[in-house]
Amino acid sequence: MPQASTKPTASSRDIGMDLGTANTLVYARGHGIVLNEPSVVAVRAGTVTAVAVGAEAKETIGRTPGSITAIRPLKDGVICDYEAAEEMIRHFVRKAVPGRRARSRTRMVICVPSGVTPVERRAIVQASTRAGARAVHLIEEPMAAAIGAGLPVDEPRGSMVVDIGGGTCEVAVISLGGIVTSRSLRVGGDRMDTAITDHVRKEHGLLIGERTAEDVKVAIGSAWPVPDRPELENRSFTVRGRERVGGMPQTLQLTSADVRAALDEPVQAIIAAVRATLEECPPELSGDVMEHGIVLTGGGALLPGLDLRIASATGIPVFVADDPLDCVVLGTGKCVENMDSLF
Ligand code: ADP
Ligand code: MG
Repeated sequence: MPQASTKPTASSRDIGMDLGTANTLVYARGHGIVLNEPSVVAVRAGTVTAVAVGAEAKETIGRTPGSITAIRPLKDGVICDYEAAEEMIRHFVRKAVPGRRARSRTRMVICVPSGVTPVERRAIVQASTRAGARAVHLIEEPMAAAIGAGLPVDEPRGSMVVDIGGGTCEVAVISLGGIVTSRSLRVGGDRMDTAITDHVRKEHGLLIGERTAEDVKVAIGSAWPVPDRPELENRSFTVRGRERVGGMPQTLQLTSADVRAALDEPVQAIIAAVRATLEECPPELSGDVMEHGIVLTGGGALLPGLDLRIASATGIPVFVADDPLDCVVLGTGKCVENMDSLF
């Protein structure tokens, strides 16, 4: 994954931001990715003052004393807390472009989930302007994902991208620089985590937290057997939780089979969205997708076997993009690099 190597200087005023429900990444013109942090804000109860933002704030999830709450300002692909969102954007812009003078010349391209409403779009633009940016442009997430994944978006050829983030899954067919058909569903990594929490509660009578569920998913989760990686089967992971009855702390060994069963429902929902998008797509373009395949981006694309599972359900080849977590910010970055001609 391209590292946040160079620090932005006063000359790199233009930035691109992937405002994700799980992670926010910033690309500085001429420098590459300069920031990559969880989209989390910790605030003191009853105030809007952030005590921590990003990586530091994520550490507090599920562990906060009553006086501090960890907020994810974007949930399910929409802004659920405006004030926290604004605070977070301001914090990240200041971190990526130090110096008020440099910021006053900063132009920004922000990529937002396509489910975001016009009111929310305005709120994001406003928050970025208040953070000091001079001009703010918004772009559609599936387009950024496709550009970042290296798909030939400007050609008269249908390309399908499926971006699976924390809160949403965005499926789109792109041709000639535009989105021909798309859909956004509120199923992503978070729903996979909830599916694991629910499964463990129902099948094993144990209550576990969302951070634990995410750890389980990343450690032993999969959607389908991967022939080249038999070691992924028959793995186990020990979780700690609280007994549903009795309330005592308890540990439990979860297996990869357990987790695959738990993930079945969200995975099915993603497959249904892919199918529906293909059905809506003009036949020439769906023919292109049949021939060239579907590209997966976003953190959810890292779930082992998800590509094979979608391929088996649709009969279409599926590829995971290189560095799926970075595709959206890299695509946004490409727009930043070409901003003088684009906007
Ligand atoms: P967003 O764009 O919404 O910020 P990302 O594209 O950054 O989301 O992806 C974050 C999601 O990807 C989280 O739900 C995270 O748990 C999930 N994720 C990260 N790594 C893996 C992995 N190896 N397997 C499955 N899911 C993963
Ligand atoms: Mg994303």
